[in-house]
Amino acid sequence: MTLMLAMGSFLYGLLLAVFKLNKNNPQKVPFWAAAKILQGSGALVLYFRTDTFDGLTSLAFTFILLGCAYEAWAVRYLAGKLVPRRLHIPVSAGIILACALTVFLAMPYQTGLVFIIQSGFYLLTSLFLFGKSEMRFSLRSLLAVCYSIAGSVYLVCAITCLVFPEYSLSMHGGYINNVIPGVSFFLFLVSGFVLLMLAKEKSDIQVLEIQRSLKESEYRFQKIMETAIEGILIFDENYTITFCNDNMAAMLGYTTDEMLGKTYASFFPESQLDIYNEQASRRKQGKDSVYECGLLRKDGQINWFLVSAKAILDDSGRFEGSFAMLTDINARKEMEFLLAETNRQLMELSNTDSLTGIANRRSFDSALEHEYYRLRRSNSELSVIMLDIDHFKEYNDYYGHVMGDECLRRIGRVLTGCVTRSVDLAARYGGEEFACILPDTGIQGAVAIAECIRQRIHELKIEHKESPVSEFVTASLGVATVRYSDNMSPADVVEMADRLMYKAKLSGRNRTEYAAL
Ligand code: GH3
Ligand code: MG
Ligand code: MG
Repeated sequence: MTLMLAMGSFLYGLLLAVFKLNKNNPQKVPFWAAAKILQGSGALVLYFRTDTFDGLTSLAFTFILLGCAYEAWAVRYLAGKLVPRRLHIPVSAGIILACALTVFLAMPYQTGLVFIIQSGFYLLTSLFLFGKSEMRFSLRSLLAVCYSIAGSVYLVCAITCLVFPEYSLSMHGGYINNVIPGVSFFLFLVSGFVLLMLAKEKSDIQVLEIQRSLKESEYRFQKIMETAIEGILIFDENYTITFCNDNMAAMLGYTTDEMLGKTYASFFPESQLDIYNEQASRRKQGKDSVYECGLLRKDGQINWFLVSAKAILDDSGRFEGSFAMLTDINARKEMEFLLAETNRQLMELSNTDSLTGIANRRSFDSALEHEYYRLRRSNSELSVIMLDIDHFKEYNDYYGHVMGDECLRRIGRVLTGCVTRSVDLAARYGGEEFACILPDTGIQGAVAIAECIRQRIHELKIEHKESPVSEFVTASLGVATVRYSDNMSPADVVEMADRLMYKAKLSGRNRTEYAAL
């Protein structure tokens, strides 16, 4: 009987240990496998012991009692509570100590002590089962009765041993040796079966509960996503949309069903593909980011978004997809574009002469400053042309200011016609004076341009009856070509060109005077 009990407990313990190792089976009850293996080991040692109570017997009982304690903890767990870990050590130490003590006791007090502890644990276990618990009532009662019977039998045996030692000694061979293994085996069979059923029931309840809470949180998550003011998109590892909330779809003019399965890239206009590529590669590296981009709506219009994107990685850090929250910033972006355009127009206006439409004095001064100081590095030449219309006061007096203005406009157009390189600048310097900046241009090139201007003005054939120089409007020009010098400022260059222009006036007008430094 003892051998059967030992083998049974062992196999049972091993079975529970295998259950424990199997990850997919959640049927896990702590201490149970340990309890059964300890009991099995104890029963096995008990089977092989000699008839006398020796150290080996004491060791066997240590195992059996530790097993009983663990079984009590396992039942407690199944009943819905855990025995605090800090209790395990004193209880185990107490058992080991009590069993060690048996070596010093005489027969039958040794067995009496062991039985009383064992009965204590069985009665404790049945107490656990009588308390409030999650277990099914019928199984719980059956198990409680089993443990109570076992506890009581052990108690009676213990009392017999301790109170009536002679009687128990006389009955020893027959009564104790036969009743106890019988009771143990009975308990083993019934409790093992019932406990297995209970464990299965508990794990089923746990699985159901996990499924229910998973469903609940999934539902909550879905609701948050659907009602969020922001657009929400979830992509798989190929940036294909696997989730899109109603708001996101509405912002792009689609239905959510239409959005699913589309690639993120398909929403990017040509001009924005760089942004897509950069962000896609960042996400693949597991990096999160916040960026702005314009996405194509169903009607072909671009809608601007502020995107906050997060990479989704699996446990091993492999890229699985990404999550993006999109805020509509179209209104802000439109304002930005409008502001940029207004700024550009303002800038243009502040640099343009309103009468002729060419660059103004402000623009001329800043360009000259820039070009002159650039010479310091390039060691190149810079030419400046100053132009003044001849006898323009008389023109105004004779033809009136409206005609005078028109004349200025036409001369402005001549300048832009002759000064064609993108780096060159033709400006109205003030009144009826014009000026040109010609970077990297030597004296010959500059004079050629000045002459082109002078001739073309003459060729405009604007009648000027009051001019003593010609029957048409003419102009006098001064050309100065310089290299950079620490002793010279941009204003000096203008002054030099101005002086040359006056020289042309003094030399009879309608001519170009030039000099190089
Ligand atoms: P000079 O050949 O010596 O340059 O003689 P000038 O009459 O051109 O010289 P002055 O500098 O005395 O005259 C400039 C005139 O240009 C004065 C003004 O009537 C005219 N003027 C200046 N700015 C404007 C303008 O914006 N519109 C018009 N219609 N006339 C202007
Ligand atoms: Mg003048
Ligand atoms: Mg003049």
